[in-house]
Amino acid sequence: MTVGVLALQGAFREHAAVLRGLGIPVRDIRRREDLQGIRGIVLPGGESTVQGKLLRDFGILEPLRDLIAQGLPVMGTCAGLILLAREIGEDGERHLGTLPVRVFRNIYGRQLGSFVTNGRVGEFENFREVFIRAPGIAEILDPETEVLAVTNGRITGVRYRNQFGFAFHPELTANPGLHLLFLKHSGLYPEPELPANVRQSA
Ligand code: GLN
Repeated sequence: MTVGVLALQGAFREHAAVLRGLGIPVRDIRRREDLQGIRGIVLPGGESTVQGKLLRDFGILEPLRDLIAQGLPVMGTCAGLILLAREIGEDGERHLGTLPVRVFRNIYGRQLGSFVTNGRVGEFENFREVFIRAPGIAEILDPETEVLAVTNGRITGVRYRNQFGFAFHPELTANPGLHLLFLKHSGLYPEPELPANVRQSA
């Protein structure tokens, strides 16, 4: 039950560390062959233009898009959200394009766009949200999309079927809650098994 972390550029080590801390086997995804057999994937923050180019150069873009369209659970954070978005800005540019939202890159400005705040995310009252030159979700393009987080009046977290997207960096906080939320919704976090001796006596 391995979960992939796209490891072309950006904050992939931090995501892998959170997942490993939850006992999840992790594989770095750098080539299209690495996609074989993964049960979910995390797309980290970083620079979406660089990641998008590398996804194309290494032939990962198309097979990954197909896997997500077929239901592969995915969580994209910051640049990862931009990779997932169906629309980026006004010009119809896209990378994977599987998540029905329109995002704007660097919506808080390029230089002063980094800040930390606390807000409600899904079931969490007070989740620490780290924004680093973050995108904003300006429009939901499919009514089936669930809003998970709103920060200062702007949508910053969504779920659409098997796809989770966050504008901030949950991997840079001590709280693994959103990774757990993603894993549980995706059926990737089973209850701990009873020890064998307990099962036998039951
Ligand atoms: N500004 C970056 C982009 O447009 C995203 C920043 C991030 O992932 N922290 O891709």
